[in-house]
Amino acid sequence: MKILVLASGGDAPGMNRFMWEIYRKFRNDVYFAFAGFTGLVNGQIFPLSEVIDKKKRNSAGVVTKSSRCPEFKHAKYFNMGLENAKKFDVVVILGGNGSEKGAKRLFESGVNTIFVPGTIDNDVEDCHYSIGFSTAVKEAVYTVENTMPSIDAFLNACLFEVMGRENSSICEEVARQVDADYQVVDEKTLDYEKMKNVILKKYIASSSAKIIVRENIANITEIASKLNDMLGMNIVKTQIVGRTQRGGKPTRQELSMATKFAKETVRCIKTKVFGVRVLADENLNIIVTEFK
Ligand code: ADP
Repeated sequence: MKILVLASGGDAPGMNRFMWEIYRKFRNDVYFAFAGFTGLVNGQIFPLSEVIDKKKRNSAGVVTKSSRCPEFKHAKYFNMGLENAKKFDVVVILGGNGSEKGAKRLFESGVNTIFVPGTIDNDVEDCHYSIGFSTAVKEAVYTVENTMPSIDAFLNACLFEVMGRENSSICEEVARQVDADYQVVDEKTLDYEKMKNVILKKYIASSSAKIIVRENIANITEIASKLNDMLGMNIVKTQIVGRTQRGGKPTRQELSMATKFAKETVRCIKTKVFGVRVLADENLNIIVTEFK
């Protein structure tokens, strides 16, 4: 059986563990498309053994490389990828909700696909955990905890920008874990008056506010500047957590979930269950569902 795996969209810690577990079961039958759909379109397909080994299994930075490949949405490039995908008995696609659309289209075009959620954003529908989420949260919590002592020493307040694209999962979980004073998850919660009051209340109590802001809502420097104007003081600082969220050492939960996703994927391959999404339910049990 010839198996193709690829990582697509934003890469996520834990993807290597998933790849390793697939490789461990099927060894030289496993190939990868370099940088996801990009390699699938260009025919850059190689044995997985060339990039994976046991030592890399617990590291971040997906060994197969990943990319965004907007061209893949267009028929000409999609069909080029389709031709290459058809050379395999099964194509396993690791990515977020965008990659899922690509996986579904390949399935509808006759390819045996299996989609697995691999994205720090936790944005896959019906899925309560995607590979990368817990590590991304851990890194953001670490940044907040290591920034606040200095913020506090100056009686400042701090806005922390976390990743998540259009999804607020990371923001909400980080806010919960650091016991944040306020969180901005969407345009509605970008409430300057509320933020000002939270900051002022803390300031008067000789303390410092920590506010978690999801990316892609507004420019964090501009938010801080506006708040400083409203407060009449220059006390609101900013910290962008950024790519450390993708590059952190995978947590135990990450490795355990990646292994569980892989085990179920192996079962699907062995029993020839294709055209499915391997997801995690609300109790983080692995389930298999059809594409929507
Ligand atoms: P993620 O998978 O992390 O959500 P993106 O939304 O950027 O990341 O999607 C990753 C890739 O999935 C895109 O660059 C594109 O190659 C592919 N993709 C997204 N939507 C479609 C679609 N409608 N048809 C085919 N491929 C798609």
